[in-house]
Amino acid sequence: MRILIVEDNEAVSKVLRHLLMQELHCEVDIAADVSSANALPEQHSYFVVVAELNLPDAPDGEIAQLVLMSYQTPCIVLSSNLDARQRKKLLKLGIADYVLKENRFSYEYVVKLVARLDQNQHVKVLVADDSVVSRKFVKVLLEQQLFTVLEACDGAEAITVLNETPDIQLLITDYNMPNVDGFELILKVREKFSREDLAIIGLSNDTDESLSARFIKNGANDFLQKPFVHEEFHCRVLNTLDSLDMIRSLWEQANRDYLTKAYTRRYFFTQHEKDVSDAGQFALGLIDIDFFKKVNDTHGHDVGDQVLFEFAKRLKNAFGQHFTVARFGGEEFVVAFKGLDGDRAFTVMDKFRQQVNSQPFITDAGELTISFSCGIAKAESTDTNLDTLLHRADLCLYEAKEAGRNKVVL
Ligand code: GH3
Ligand code: MG
Ligand code: MG
Repeated sequence: MRILIVEDNEAVSKVLRHLLMQELHCEVDIAADVSSANALPEQHSYFVVVAELNLPDAPDGEIAQLVLMSYQTPCIVLSSNLDARQRKKLLKLGIADYVLKENRFSYEYVVKLVARLDQNQHVKVLVADDSVVSRKFVKVLLEQQLFTVLEACDGAEAITVLNETPDIQLLITDYNMPNVDGFELILKVREKFSREDLAIIGLSNDTDESLSARFIKNGANDFLQKPFVHEEFHCRVLNTLDSLDMIRSLWEQANRDYLTKAYTRRYFFTQHEKDVSDAGQFALGLIDIDFFKKVNDTHGHDVGDQVLFEFAKRLKNAFGQHFTVARFGGEEFVVAFKGLDGDRAFTVMDKFRQQVNSQPFITDAGELTISFSCGIAKAESTDTNLDTLLHRADLCLYEAKEAGRNKVVL
């Protein structure tokens, strides 16, 4: 990532360059005025230009127009004082944001902003609004922040787009729409997409003041009354995405093991408790690495961790795409073979056992040969919960250990 700073105050440009390089590991060029900026080699394409509003050869923000129109690059404007007329003009031009040079936090804000723009490139937002004008307006605002924007002209189309594009992170929806309105849309969407999957912001120009609360009660994260100002829109979008990130990281902490990133025991139980009594096939593989204590005792705990990490990685590669792979604790893992009968589960697990045992693990202590034992149990019509199934898998695992380890027992 390469960034251009156009700023005549050398102290300011140096501080900014230092922060940007340190925090974002990007390359930074500095120009003191418009003519030196124009003299920079053309092959440098900049991710964003950070430009002072008042330059020796461009005293009234002409730089913003140049950057947006000629360079076709997002622009962040710096200024020591910005009056209402200039602010309006700049926002209309389509700058990404403006920053008042007040204190050191202003520069940190610029860095945060650039990092956000970089992230936004990978974030998809769906705008559902039957008014073309209003939809395009929101789209333009989002594109100034480098989001990828998808559009829907009513709730029904929004649902279709969401189903076709599962990685949409934010839905911005109007209230009044034909076919399926904003409320119905949110209710439908929340049946499928939880709060850690998708954030929702409601919009309306209806003057009914109970709308905002109703939007949020129906499952929206936030609400904006139309017409709104640029800054408020951007702040709401950023806050909503920040909280989405936080919810996701909380979810990860609760449902994924810290060391191996396999699912936790808790996730395994919430996900599969009902599969036991379902009509379909279901089998469990309970895995325990052989003589793992010896790895720790001989090579140290860190090498033990490396083995666990690599083991979980292989397990996820082998089964993670179709089945849940969870770490049950220590060197114990479980695979939930939903849709497989016992024999089939045995076959795929035994193949994996041979692979693990024949491909040494590369660690700081050199190559280590690892084996594991596994007990497999399949769900019977008499089973009512996972515990009984796990108990049977545990008995098989015990048998595998007794029979000399490196073995799968059904
Ligand atoms: P067996 O073949 O009978 O399973 O023998 P084992 O040595 O694998 O079994 P045991 O249960 O006696 O030892 C498991 C060891 O795993 C003991 C514990 O210190 C170690 N362990 C548990 N969690 C971790 C971890 O997160 N990292 C590391 N490095 N070791 C762990
Ligand atoms: Mg054990
Ligand atoms: Mg063990």
